[in-house]
Amino acid sequence: MVDWSGGNDRGAKPKADAIWTCVAGEAAVYHRNRNSAEDWLRTRIGEEIDAGRRVLAGFDFPFGYPNGLARALVGKDDPLTLWQWFADRIEDDPKGNNRFDVAGRINRLFDGTGPFWGNGLKRDVAGLPRKGRARDCDALPEWRLAEARARGAFSCWQMAGAGSVGGQMMMGLPVLWRLREAFGAAAWPFEPLDDAPLALVEVWPSLIRKAVAEGQREGEIKDAAQVRVLVAAIAALDPDVLAEMLAVEEPQAREEGWIFGLGYEPAFEAAARQALALKPPALKDDCFALPPGVDWAPVDDALALLENRLSPVTATEVLPLEAVLGRTLAAPVVAKRSNPPLPNTAVDGYGFAHSSLPEGDPVLPLVAGRAAAGIRFDGTVPPGHAIRILTGAALPEGVDTVVLQEDVQLGAGEVAFRAGVRAGANTRCAGEDVEAGQEILAEGRVLTAPDLALIAATGGAGVTVRKPLKVAVVSTGDELVDPGQPAGPGQIFDANRPMLLALIERAGHVPVDMGRVPDNRASLRATLDEAARTADAILTSGGASAGDEDHVSALLGQAGAMALWRMALKPGRPLALGLWNGAPVFGLPGNPVAAMVTACVFGLPALGLLAGRGWRKPQGFQVPAAFAKRKKPGRREYLRARIRDGRVEVFKSEGSGRVSGLSWAEGLVELPDGALVVEPGDPVTYIPWSGFGI
Ligand code: AMP
Ligand code: MG
Repeated sequence: MVDWSGGNDRGAKPKADAIWTCVAGEAAVYHRNRNSAEDWLRTRIGEEIDAGRRVLAGFDFPFGYPNGLARALVGKDDPLTLWQWFADRIEDDPKGNNRFDVAGRINRLFDGTGPFWGNGLKRDVAGLPRKGRARDCDALPEWRLAEARARGAFSCWQMAGAGSVGGQMMMGLPVLWRLREAFGAAAWPFEPLDDAPLALVEVWPSLIRKAVAEGQREGEIKDAAQVRVLVAAIAALDPDVLAEMLAVEEPQAREEGWIFGLGYEPAFEAAARQALALKPPALKDDCFALPPGVDWAPVDDALALLENRLSPVTATEVLPLEAVLGRTLAAPVVAKRSNPPLPNTAVDGYGFAHSSLPEGDPVLPLVAGRAAAGIRFDGTVPPGHAIRILTGAALPEGVDTVVLQEDVQLGAGEVAFRAGVRAGANTRCAGEDVEAGQEILAEGRVLTAPDLALIAATGGAGVTVRKPLKVAVVSTGDELVDPGQPAGPGQIFDANRPMLLALIERAGHVPVDMGRVPDNRASLRATLDEAARTADAILTSGGASAGDEDHVSALLGQAGAMALWRMALKPGRPLALGLWNGAPVFGLPGNPVAAMVTACVFGLPALGLLAGRGWRKPQGFQVPAAFAKRKKPGRREYLRARIRDGRVEVFKSEGSGRVSGLSWAEGLVELPDGALVVEPGDPVTYIPWSGFGI
């Protein structure tokens, strides 16, 4: 990648407005002026080609002017002849160049002032106004199509002024021309890249300005960061996505040029972040702090706090369609192509122009040939004629209506049917399902099988998704032994860990088993350290209260980023929430029932947010109760429940140690915070496990 420049450096220190280049995998290189940069490029590109490699070289200035300049200067709409025209006339050496004079000279060919403006010299230049407003020429458009799409780009006509590109472009086109001549390069997008040893490609670092800003190192000159981040991003692109980005179909681009990656910014930016291993911004230390004075939080307040404070922590990457099932979209997906792309037929039958039907029952001569899906009929069907057409075939020229084959009688070379077929019958319009450019899937979507069909049908290949969230699970307690191990009296088997690991997997995250730790601060600390290194978030169970053996809350408290949330919730004791070396820790109660309920109600929505899915409220619905219950005000309650015969029944005991009831249940009944009397038949809210996403 080359950050070209209109300026020249004659001082001692590297400056922003000279030239920076960067080869993938290498450090950025500084060039004081264009002459030395061109020499370096020739040598370096030559070495690569001699070594049998092909080179994609990006330059950050427009490769063409808005439609019309080539015709005015060289008499044809050929941007490469224009390159040559400039190469023949531009004089450049570190002490001076003639770019303003050339711009003035071009201007004088036009009636009025001409398109160029901006003069970086003290002396006036014949034909070149200093101000853009001083122009009165409207012979040429102000913008290329690419600049109309890329917000914030400068106009090619502006020759001077901070950030302008016109001068740099005029000094760069001759260099491109010489490189093309020297290496048999293909100039993108004017020429097919095929097997050209060198592809010259227009780039614009601002397309991925956020990634550049995130990737810029302390003290690094911005232009150096730009070429370094750009080159890393392009090198990291999936080859299919790269090919898609290089395949530009806009007809205007054939004269004006195009900006590489335009329209693919999310994928491009994701590639940069992936290549530089940039992580999303870290969670704030006080993200779990409770508002002052609050120590007994209603469930909804606690959930709102989590929703506000947490943000996605997973990095993004671009993957091919076959690898994204169940992944979370890190950017919206936009349809590359309409579905259907062309008007087509929904049935097997005979097509014709409706307006050409005769009065009465039509008998239409058939044209030779047929239209089938994927095989276009190239000719035109004349008015008053019909053509054999098969489901999915694009409507041939001259056809707007199709009659079903079951409704016709075939004669020798003709087709007859009853009058009254509606105009447009049995056809589908182009884009009636999806229009090109339309957003088809929102950021945060967890991709389903039908989503893959939608992306494929609208021409998508590379999808910008998040890496899966890794969630570590730790059990705490001196009394615990692993299932299958000998257990002494007073010992119990660790039931929470298999349950929580499975919950995480069902929710589409990656579970990381960190084993169990005794009630001992040193080993808990070591395990949390390891968990924070390997995972994005940590779930612990047990030891979360404020007792002597509650080491999770004690340790997180020492780390200074912990809050003990006492929730108005049954079952569920306090939740210990905190950051351990930057990783959010959800300290769940040890009781299996309480651990399950708090994992479902708080843990899963919070993990979804960390994974980039946004906040998803568990989805329940109203079902008549098969039970009676009297509930006091003050705490929200969750009952182990399942539906039988259209009614929701609850487990016979509410004891929070009863694991059998958890397994019996197929979801939870949620009872509101206030007092409540439930009689059999009253509607209550039932949330099946699937409503929690598990
Ligand atoms: P704690 O929150 O550590 O005070 O634990 C509360 C209750 O849950 C105690 O009876 C523990 O023995 C029990 N418990 C804690 N962790 C687990 C576990 N992983 N599996 C089963 N029971 C547990
Ligand atoms: Mg314990």
